[in-house]
Amino acid sequence: MLTKTKIYLSSPHMGGSEQKFVDEAFSTNWIAPLGPNVNGFEDDIKNYLGGEKQIAALSSGTAAIHLALQLLNVSKGDEVLCQSFTFSASANPIIYQGATPIFIDSETDTWNMSPELLEIAIKDRIEKYQKPKAIIAVHLYGMPYKAKEINEIAQKYDIPVVEDSAEALGSTYFNKKCGALSDFGILSFNGNKIITTSGGGALIVDSEKLKEKAVFLSTQARDNAPHYEHSSIGFNYRLSNVLAGIGRGQMEVIDDRVEARRQNFNFYKKHLSQYKQITFLEEPENFFSNRWITCIETESYELREKIRLELLKDDIESRPLWKPMHMQPIFKDYLHFTNGTSERLFDRGLCLPSGSNLTQDDLSRILNNITNTLNYDK
Ligand SMILES: *Cc1c(COP(=O)(O)O)cnc(C)c1O
Repeated sequence: MLTKTKIYLSSPHMGGSEQKFVDEAFSTNWIAPLGPNVNGFEDDIKNYLGGEKQIAALSSGTAAIHLALQLLNVSKGDEVLCQSFTFSASANPIIYQGATPIFIDSETDTWNMSPELLEIAIKDRIEKYQKPKAIIAVHLYGMPYKAKEINEIAQKYDIPVVEDSAEALGSTYFNKKCGALSDFGILSFNGNKIITTSGGGALIVDSEKLKEKAVFLSTQARDNAPHYEHSSIGFNYRLSNVLAGIGRGQMEVIDDRVEARRQNFNFYKKHLSQYKQITFLEEPENFFSNRWITCIETESYELREKIRLELLKDDIESRPLWKPMHMQPIFKDYLHFTNGTSERLFDRGLCLPSGSNLTQDDLSRILNNITNTLNYDK
């Protein structure tokens, strides 16, 4: 019998042209950061997002969030409102800046930042301390957050929004691409994301001037002089020309990747929605998710664990949904505005294997495992 291979949650999936762009970087000796692939990759992202935004390619999505907070002058004494239900990289840069995170829970329609709790938090902070300096909202697992509601509140109180679109390249909201819905957007090209440069990210801004400033900060903040002159603190955050070559190849296949991930979701939903112990997050009208990861909510922690451990026995990787930031040991003492949604999702939710390179055999193997567990559980 063939030995079964391990099935991963989300693994890199090259399209074909990546090698060509990387080879070009080698043959022209553009190995250093900057170079034609960086510019080409930025143009590809810019066009994909609709052409109105400016893009700075960076070494990670985390670096992009950090630079956004830099450009917003977030510093010690400031408070930043951040979605609690997310990966820690959304919140860590607040700490890098010496500022204070305040966590906002999710609503049930999208699993993302609750506009109601956001406004409650803003009013509370204005009354008791001062106006928060920024809002970090996240399109988690590719599902767009309620951008109209969030932006309206942000504008009412004049607070800029950083749109964490690390998981949502290819998602759209009322036909506009995620990443381009707010003042600052960020993308990630980490190995597990919908497309990857093995490691990388991008900052999305409104003007050429802001882009220049971001690039300046990301390349050690060198002033214009023949020697090395510095009047501000810089970072080494620029994407390398070699990795940008991978990104150019990946941008040729982004739409295929979205389609494949959405098909995974449809497959799971088609075969599992008859089980009343399992529910899926549906797209509200005019919300289009790239379905980066297919998530299920089960009826109990016990059932979730049973499914996860059965999959593990068969060498299939699955994972509980993100543990909310307000429950994390490192963040639990910060103020948070919660309603139980993210705690419930963390308790009962599971991420299923969702790579765009899963085969029909892989999907059947995963499904059989889950249905066996569910039938046994009845
Ligand atoms: C991956 C991710 C990031 C960070 O991106 P990196 O490129 O890994 O630094 C930030 N926010 C969310 C929601 C992510 O999933």
